[in-house]
Parts: sequence; C-alpha cells; structure tokens
Amino acid sequence: MNDILKQDIVTLVKLQEAETEIVRLQAVLEKVKKEKTKLESRLNQFKNALVQNKEELKKAQTACRDSESEIQIVDDRIIKSNENLRMVKTNKEYQVLLREVDDNKKRKDAFETELLDFMDERERSESIVKESEKEYSLLAEQILAQQAEIEKKCTDDKELLEEYLVRQKDIGKSLNPSLMERFRKISKMNNGLAVTGVDNAVCLGCFMNIPPQLFIEVQRGSSLISCPQCSRILYHVNTD
Ligand SMILES: [Zn+2]
Repeated sequence: MNDILKQDIVTLVKLQEAETEIVRLQAVLEKVKKEKTKLESRLNQFKNALVQNKEELKKAQTACRDSESEIQIVDDRIIKSNENLRMVKTNKEYQVLLREVDDNKKRKDAFETELLDFMDERERSESIVKESEKEYSLLAEQILAQQAEIEKKCTDDKELLEEYLVRQKDIGKSLNPSLMERFRKISKMNNGLAVTGVDNAVCLGCFMNIPPQLFIEVQRGSSLISCPQCSRILYHVNTD
C-alpha cells in the first residue's frame, strides 16, 4: 500500500513537470495568437478604409454620369427648339420658343457648372483610391511576412507542446483516474501548479508554513496531503 502511494507521488511529480511545461508553452502560443490577431485587425482597418473610398468614388462617378445625361437631355431640347424656330409663323410662337431656348441654355449652364464640381470630386476620389490601394497592398505584404515569421518562430513550441501532452498522457496512465481528476482540478485552480514540494515546513506553492503535524505526515509520505492554504498536493523535498 505504502509503495503504491510512493509511486503515485513520483508519478504526480512527473505529471507536474510536464504540466508546468505545457502551461508555459500554451501561454507562449496564446500570446503569439494574439499578436497575429492584432496584425490581422490592423490590416482589416486598411481594408475597410479602401472599401469606403471605393464607395465614395462610385458615388462620384454616378453623379458625373447623371449630370452628363441631364446635359444631353437639355441639349436635345435646345436643338429641337431651334429646329422649331425655323418653322414658326407668328411672332408670338417665335417669342415662346426663343424663351424656351433661353431657359434651356441657362439650365445647361447650371448643369455644366455642377458637372465640373462632380468631375473634381471624381478626380479627388480616384487619387484617394489609388493611394489607399497602394497602402493596403504594401501593408498586406508586410503583415503576411510578419505573420509567417511569427508562425515559423513558434513551430518548435507547437511541436514541443504536442510532445509534452503525449508524455503527460502516458505518465497519467499509471495513475488512478480519480487522482488524475484531482490533479486536473487543482492545476486548473492554481495556474497549472498542482503538485508542489514542501521544504522546511514551507509549501513551495504558496510559501506558507505547514502545520507541524501535517509536515510530519508529508515527510512520512504515507498519505496524499494537500496544502491547507492553496490545496496543492504536497511532497517532501529532501534538502539535507
Ligand atoms: Zn500551499
């Protein structure tokens, strides 16, 4: 019975060694993931700006086209009125048509002035889009390279994590499932440190003193003792 328990403690310590590495590597990889996400969202900002600028350009192009077709319509009316002018018989008809031509010419002038503004706007939009496209593709290239580099740097860590996970699973096979469950639970509560040494009656997990009677039990190693402060499973570290 006692031998089995001692073996359990040895196994738990090994399990903890793997757990410590797993938690460390997971933190490193989590940080890497965040870094990549940050880069991605920065690129997305530029992408959104580009989409918006393109939208503005589209609006300006439509305004120009609409204005041009208005001018065309008025122009057609002027031509028609001028044709009619040659065929009128009375002075009154003549005056009416003349005024019509005059009105339409004024409208055409107004449309043309408007068109000039729209064309300016279109030109401005075009250059903004061009600039925005350039910025975006430059940044996309940069960010892709940065992400690839980050990915390359953490390849080893990823492999190592896999190794430790497999190793931990193997170590855990010899442990009672309920003890494994206990280890998992305590580890989760304590940032990945479930099994810790006791040195000179001090828990090395929370650095609090262990009551003397409990310390004796830990030294004896005849039962699994948890730290009253941090609940970690304790084992005796022989420093003598
Ligand atoms: Zn403790």
